[in-house]
Amino acid sequence: MTSSQEIFDSLIIGAGPAGLSAALHLGFQRRKVVVVDRRSSPMYFYTNPVNNYPGVKPNCSGVQILKKIQGEVSEYGIPIQSGNVISIQGKCPDFEVEVLPKRRTAPPTMFKAKTLVFATGTARMHPCVKGDWRRWLRYAGKQNISFYCPECESPLTTGKDIIVVNTGTVNSALYIANRVKPFAKRIRIFMTEDSYMPFKEEDKDILDRSRFEWTSGLIERIEAATPGENQRLITTTEQVFECNHFFVAWVAIPRSELAVKMGVEVDQKGNIITDHRGKTNVEGVWAAGDIRPITQSVAMAVGTGNYAGVMIDHFLRKLD
Ligand SMILES: Cc1cc2nc3c(=O)[nH]c(=O)nc-3n(C[C@H](O)[C@H](O)[C@H](O)COP(=O)(O)OP(=O)(O)OC[C@H]3O[C@@H](n4cnc5c(N)ncnc54)[C@H](O)[C@@H]3O)c2cc1C
Repeated sequence: MTSSQEIFDSLIIGAGPAGLSAALHLGFQRRKVVVVDRRSSPMYFYTNPVNNYPGVKPNCSGVQILKKIQGEVSEYGIPIQSGNVISIQGKCPDFEVEVLPKRRTAPPTMFKAKTLVFATGTARMHPCVKGDWRRWLRYAGKQNISFYCPECESPLTTGKDIIVVNTGTVNSALYIANRVKPFAKRIRIFMTEDSYMPFKEEDKDILDRSRFEWTSGLIERIEAATPGENQRLITTTEQVFECNHFFVAWVAIPRSELAVKMGVEVDQKGNIITDHRGKTNVEGVWAAGDIRPITQSVAMAVGTGNYAGVMIDHFLRKLD
């Protein structure tokens, strides 16, 4: 184990838009900050243009927005450390945070910080292809082949033939189908039988009673062609389903295990509970972005991250 000699004013877990926005404000206030990230923000992989974040239209993707904010954060000399936070000890203002570097051969590093921000987001359950969700990643959020966000992307299905590929509960499939209904030309639901949430017998009745065509099965392969045209989903029984886009109905699992271990309060789903400023029940600990029970969007992540940064700066003034 190596130890960083510095004591940081704040250590931010997660370099998605929430964590980076908190870092940006604190850096501007000349605070000593480190951001740690294991690089699984959806912003790293989605290349569809973002339509609902101000000032970036017409063709700025998630990854481009993230790179811009990373550049601004780096201008304040804030390190964005690649690694996985695996444990947190101590209490405010003496937190000790253990980080396992991305390079497995390197030893863990211990960081000391006065305050913490959980900007850890949520894990999304992708559909499995041949039993492995990693095989779906090449289609996730890529060039309008598959959509994920009903709030951000439903209108992009206008006049299109959509297959809702479900990895969550039957209710999440129906929610997406209903959100897309005012726009799409045709909607079918494909219930994956190897998904995170088991597909139950009673789900069939619910789907039969719904106004949507549906089927279930296991995905053998995807033939994703031109974005927006002729996507093909082929099942293990060689059934072929063609559409313009897939819309994934997923389960979100908040990444709050570490917070829970230190006594941070979460709701039934595991989202971190805070006051409206992002302050948790544990002294010196804030949360921002998707990890809070709020609409999952870049704008909300940036807003809550900024607010957490402002409040931490105020809090640190009392410790200075
Ligand atoms: C395909 C897709 C398309 C989307 N399109 C849009 C859109 O068009 N418009 C829009 O507004 N929103 C969109 N969203 C939602 C948006 O991407 C999220 O709301 C936003 O990224 C949330 O930001 P965040 O910073 O809270 O969390 P995240 O972006 O999820 O970042 C959290 C980071 O924390 C890191 N982390 C977690 N735990 C640890 C740990 N223990 N140690 C180290 N690092 C850790 C993760 O690796 C991750 O990088 C989309 C999402 C998806 C999946």
